Amino acid sequence: MRLLVIEDETALSEVIKAAFEDEKFEVDLAEDGQTGYLLGISGIYDAVVLDGMLPELDGYDVLRKWRQEQIHTPVLMLTARSELEDKLKGLGLGADDYLTKPFDMEELVARIWVITRRQGAVQLDHIEYEDLQLCLDSGMIRNTQNKQEVRLGKKEFQLLEFFMRHPGQTLCREQIAEKLWGYDCEAEYNNVEVYISFTRRKLRYIESGVMIKAVRGIGYRLEYGNG
Ligand code: CA
Repeated sequence: MRLLVIEDETALSEVIKAAFEDEKFEVDLAEDGQTGYLLGISGIYDAVVLDGMLPELDGYDVLRKWRQEQIHTPVLMLTARSELEDKLKGLGLGADDYLTKPFDMEELVARIWVITRRQGAVQLDHIEYEDLQLCLDSGMIRNTQNKQEVRLGKKEFQLLEFFMRHPGQTLCREQIAEKLWGYDCEAEYNNVEVYISFTRRKLRYIESGVMIKAVRGIGYRLEYGNG
């Protein structure tokens, strides 16, 4: 899971970051609305914690612009004031939840888990694509036909989860690198190929028909075929 925290009080955002890292999230921070907005349009985040009052562009504008641009990442808004008006403003714009400052960190963690699970109708402990099953708890992949299985490394798991949540869709190299290493990851583009090749080897090992196909000049796509 990758979380974006857009909050100009750095003391608070550091505490939020630490709390979510304990939950095994990867956390990116932005201190102003404009930077946060640009990070969010990458579409790589599973959830966003968005402060209402921010420099450059306020949180409500960030959210409105994302929703206009069809970025539907779940968003929890932090409101400094307890006024109902603020909350309604946030929810009316397409926020998934809100919390009033000051708040309990455990409450924030619990609510973020809820909004990330709300994506998709039913949250399972595994995802499936054709003959391939990825177990989200153990990080094992399994061929549902021949029952062979193997464990994935952390990056292989993140990579395959990203593909399995976007089957048949071409994912560009930059998007994959950002998903695996975060936004500031220019040096990591070459590593994408390395992890793709590790992951392909494991797919072959369990004799899955699912393949990570290279799309020339763009990136990669998850496909299924017998040949
Ligand atoms: Ca603020």
